[in-house]
Amino acid sequence: MTEKTSLQPTFEDLELLARVSQLLMSLDLDEVLRQVIALMRDAVGATWVSFFLHDQHGLDWDHILMVRELPPGESLQVVHQVLDNGLAGWATRHRQGTLVQDTQTDPRWYVFPGDQRPVRSVLCVPFLYEDQVIAVLTLEHEAPQHFNEYHLRMMTIVANQASVAVRNAQLFQRLEGQQRQLRAVLQAIPEVLIVLDHEQRILLLNNAAQEMLQVAQASAAIGSTLHDYASLDPIFYELHTQVMEHQRAAKSFQLRSEAFQRDFEVTLSVWHHAAAAEGNAPVAGHIVLLHDITTLHDLSRFKDEMLRIASHDLRSPIALIIGYADMIEMDDTGRESPVRDYVNIIQTAAERMNNMLEELLRVERVKTSPLELYETITIKLLVETTLENMRPAATQKHLIYGADIQLDETLILVLDPVLIRQAMENLIGNAIKYTPEGKTVRVLAYTTATSFEFIVEDSGIGIDKAHLPNLFRSFYRVKNQQTSGIAGSGLGLSLVKSVVERHRGEVWVESEPGVGSRFGFRLPLS
Ligand code: ADP
Repeated sequence: MTEKTSLQPTFEDLELLARVSQLLMSLDLDEVLRQVIALMRDAVGATWVSFFLHDQHGLDWDHILMVRELPPGESLQVVHQVLDNGLAGWATRHRQGTLVQDTQTDPRWYVFPGDQRPVRSVLCVPFLYEDQVIAVLTLEHEAPQHFNEYHLRMMTIVANQASVAVRNAQLFQRLEGQQRQLRAVLQAIPEVLIVLDHEQRILLLNNAAQEMLQVAQASAAIGSTLHDYASLDPIFYELHTQVMEHQRAAKSFQLRSEAFQRDFEVTLSVWHHAAAAEGNAPVAGHIVLLHDITTLHDLSRFKDEMLRIASHDLRSPIALIIGYADMIEMDDTGRESPVRDYVNIIQTAAERMNNMLEELLRVERVKTSPLELYETITIKLLVETTLENMRPAATQKHLIYGADIQLDETLILVLDPVLIRQAMENLIGNAIKYTPEGKTVRVLAYTTATSFEFIVEDSGIGIDKAHLPNLFRSFYRVKNQQTSGIAGSGLGLSLVKSVVERHRGEVWVESEPGVGSRFGFRLPLS
């Protein structure tokens, strides 16, 4: 093509275009650039070439290909000078190719200091993609008037075609980079992370998950379900079941793995396809995140143990204080004396300490209560007795105290009646305690096909959402203006939870500040 001046494309021209269009298949940016530059240089018989590639954020410094090997600092300077003053800058600004027939007479030719090459003619074309200049190629020759209009036109056509190939490869490279980044982030997370598709098959997992599933390569786990790993540890069976049942939003719960001797806080969330609108898009799958809380659990167990020991040991001295205070009271001759007041104060304080210890020990006993205390009980009777036991407290507070008990007389459950009554009393007691005078407390009890449900509703002060996940923890109390005058230890609900869980049931709460609360538990019927 070098000798040609007619405007008819030759066989070589067509072959050049065909070879450039073949590059569209390649996704290797370096290879695409190398070939484009070589093809264009050979097509016009250029002696030297320089090439600047832009990416979205400016110049792509990895792809500034120069004829001369320059040290990085100098190369940067040269590129800026050429883009500011030189021909490549002109082509970029005008978005069109251009010819310099003789560098000695064209002011656009900029020679940077120290450049000894005897360049006399130049052809410069921008690579345009969606109206943006993505690269500039400069072809140089030592003879004047080496390049002609036909070369320019041909190189412009080739550059336009090559732009698509360059952009494709660039996008692919960026995508690959982002994917590598995502993978690196995933692997750096110490938590076990598993992404599942809508059929509960593993799509993605990180190193920690790989270790737990005992697979050497992620690919070995991809495509299988968590159920497939149940033989390693029942925790995977449990996770699989939870995922199957879970379709909306996120939820957290704790699981212990006996095989790994570890405790986990599990967060289960659903994910949607990015393109689909948030909210009503169908679920694309689940994300399972396991956070190791073994140390926390060990600490909590240690704390429970310390409390148990401390409360056992405190009982004797407190019993002594109460006993001797009673004796002083009896010895007192009845004269008006401040001693009587002091003794009363000691008695009240000691009683309070004693009650707290009793409650602590009760929680402890529940956690370890032997199953032989279970009896067959007519549940309706137990609920009605409990309701009546609590009536005086509700009446004293002038509450509207009602109930809706839909239980069959013949329904019999196997349970520890003392503990279950205590759990019910605690819930009703709390409703009475945290509901202002004149408002309502209502107890509901009924059965479903599989469970016995017990619910206490009140129109009391309610609880802020932030507290709800912690309410059932030992010693947790909501501290605000409304609760400040109400006495309590923060142990009542933790006792309810322990009792219910010992009966393989579950507790729950719903509440809205200023509107009221609903606390409930359910026990399995079988
Ligand atoms: P406490 O001895 O403090 O009542 P609990 O464990 O029984 O301890 O309850 C924990 C906290 O939950 C309470 O301090 C209170 O703030 C809140 N709470 C429990 N029941 C209710 C209710 N029915 N209405 C409002 N707040 C409640």
